Amino acid sequence: MRTLPSKNVAEKIKMQYIDLHTHSSASDGTDSPAELSVKAARLGLTAFALTDHDTLAGLSAAESSAKDLGMEFIRGCEISANSELGEIHIIGLWLPHGCDELENMLSSLRDAREKRNILMLEKLAVLGFKIDLEEIRHAAGDGVPGRPHIARILMDKGYVADKREAFEKFIGAGCPAYMPKLTLSPELVVGKLSKMGATVVFAHPLLKIVPGAAIDSLTARLKECGLDALEVWHSAHGQKERAYCRKLAEKLELGMSGGSDYHGENKHGIFMGFAGGKTRVPYDILEKLKQRRKKRGQPC
Ligand code: AMP
Ligand code: ZN
Ligand code: FE
Ligand code: FE
Repeated sequence: MRTLPSKNVAEKIKMQYIDLHTHSSASDGTDSPAELSVKAARLGLTAFALTDHDTLAGLSAAESSAKDLGMEFIRGCEISANSELGEIHIIGLWLPHGCDELENMLSSLRDAREKRNILMLEKLAVLGFKIDLEEIRHAAGDGVPGRPHIARILMDKGYVADKREAFEKFIGAGCPAYMPKLTLSPELVVGKLSKMGATVVFAHPLLKIVPGAAIDSLTARLKECGLDALEVWHSAHGQKERAYCRKLAEKLELGMSGGSDYHGENKHGIFMGFAGGKTRVPYDILEKLKQRRKKRGQPC
């Protein structure tokens, strides 16, 4: 007599998962772009996006290795912006190839980061922590030097016990060696990405902002500038946050996206392919984002 597969087995057979928010060593992650693809394949992901901060440098390596491994790859990046509710992050997916306007915007954001790093090092020097700019560049390798690299150096030099202490005591927002990044307005970032033909996503909306009228109206305003989706699934979103974002997306007729925000060793407790705990992002989410693009006549 044939027995039917258990519900779990059946789910494993039919369910396909994706991760539309990851970082590589081209910005502040620790896996190289090709290593990320291998990891995605080992995890059985059907598709993933590389969304490094302020750079497209990892995209071709990740894309070619993802294709070799039979996975769908989405070209992305993550850009910080300064809203009335504080710093928010915007993700562009399906970024165009060879777009000078995009490269120029990202290059000026990287220059601004360099100036900010210099100021943060001066503040750290006042606190008695001696770090050279060259050390941060070295720690970042091919990546975009930022606070995770400063945290690692503070730890390696024995100034702090771990990276968390570095952020909590010295380089986190409001701490004595913190300097805000020079950021663009979210309207400008969303508008530019949208005009370039990217799918524009409001990343981890509830990471730092409390749910309520203020975030609803910010999201509605960004929709007018070209915002296309909310990142419903994210490692920092629990069930409540997901439910809130899903409802808001429905209310504003926005799409939904989701990913881990994996940074490798630079962010502990975040795992590629998982959006908090055992939560995964189903492939269907990508299909729906693609349908929205097709309706607008955009390639995917
Ligand atoms: P930056 O773009 O240079 O301001 O650095 C932001 C990065 O630092 C992001 O990847 C954050 O996830 C990471 N970060 C922010 N706060 C913390 C924290 N408390 N512990 C570890 N990483 C953090
Ligand atoms: Zn990061
Ligand atoms: Fe982010
Ligand atoms: Fe991120």
